[in-house]
Amino acid sequence: MKTNKRKKIWVGKKKELQVLDALYKIISDASKEMVGYPASLVFDYSILLRFLKYHINNIGDPYENSGYYKINTLNIEKRVIDRFAELFHAPKNNYWGYVTNGGTEGNLYGMYVAREQHPRGILYYSDQTHYSVIKNLRLLKMPSCVVKSQPNGEIDYKKLRAILLDNKSKATPILFANIGTTMKGAIDDILKFHEILSSLHIDKYYIHCDAACFGMILPFLPDKQTKHFDFRANIDSMAISGHKVIGTPMPCGVVLLKKSHAEKIGNFIEYVGTSDRTISGSRNGLTPLFLWHEMIYSSEGKFKKKIRDCLKNAQYAVEQFRKVGIQAWHNPNSIIVIFPRPSEKIVRKWQLAVEGDLAHMITLPHVTHRLIDRVIKEISLDKKSAKKL
Ligand SMILES: *Cc1c(COP(=O)(O)O)cnc(C)c1O
Repeated sequence: MKTNKRKKIWVGKKKELQVLDALYKIISDASKEMVGYPASLVFDYSILLRFLKYHINNIGDPYENSGYYKINTLNIEKRVIDRFAELFHAPKNNYWGYVTNGGTEGNLYGMYVAREQHPRGILYYSDQTHYSVIKNLRLLKMPSCVVKSQPNGEIDYKKLRAILLDNKSKATPILFANIGTTMKGAIDDILKFHEILSSLHIDKYYIHCDAACFGMILPFLPDKQTKHFDFRANIDSMAISGHKVIGTPMPCGVVLLKKSHAEKIGNFIEYVGTSDRTISGSRNGLTPLFLWHEMIYSSEGKFKKKIRDCLKNAQYAVEQFRKVGIQAWHNPNSIIVIFPRPSEKIVRKWQLAVEGDLAHMITLPHVTHRLIDRVIKEISLDKKSAKKL
């Protein structure tokens, strides 16, 4: 009886192991054919493996290191935020931030802070803004205005000006800027935002930058080559994703804002001995380690080269598409290559992101020339066979 019982358990485990093996194969195979979504698949965090044995929880405010829960990486998180603050020229001694679950949480936080400052403010965003803004607006019950975008994905400044003028007497404008739109990789011009605001004599406003994807590209390019997109352009808050260009095994990101804004949020909680300023209570303590590994431990030169290669590969993809007669393009400083939407079979196989009659691929480090060639060849063959039918 006893042995039977043991055997049964063992058989069960073996079956479960097979489930894991099968899942592992699906994931590793799918990772070889993913070119459409913004997640870099090239990274090696093996030196951090031993930390997986512990429950690491960064509950609370990273800048208040006095909480009772000691199994945390708050010191590393602080160093990561300091590094991001330096990259984005946040005002010295007046910035605050934390490591989030990704771009959406960073945007939610920026909008939350904006609403707390301007409870009756109206949020303006372009029709190319990431879908998370709609959900965040609902959560925060904020009034908003959608502004049309130009064909390249950038906001239409004339239309923005006209709407701001119309609403001028109503409420404080909260401007949501796209620093790299999700579909077309277009960058809104913050200096133009300021020009519009000052021409309308609006001196009370809030600017949040959604730099989820391009936040980890633009700081590594020469200043002259990029638009003003960071705290030097007098913005209030910014969201950046960690898993997109940096690449991490789990989603993460950073939110960065002026400290004076953050100070108006959060209460001291006796139970944990720290301020509850973040959106989640318990927070991932592993993700700051990954960001530390790439942004502090690894060399900046290596990262800069990675960005240069990604941009070159975007150019390469556009050229290869054009060679087979497919009109592809990308915005300046963008690794998002846009082309006509191919068949559903191709979209599914290569995990392409699509919108209407457009599709895109993102030339992150795992999207090599070889992979680009394979995708374009298949799209081109598929197009030809569709024509014959
Ligand atoms: C990816 C992305 C988001 C959302 O980020 P998550 O990390 O997926 O939550 C928001 N805005 C832009 C521009 C993005 O590219």
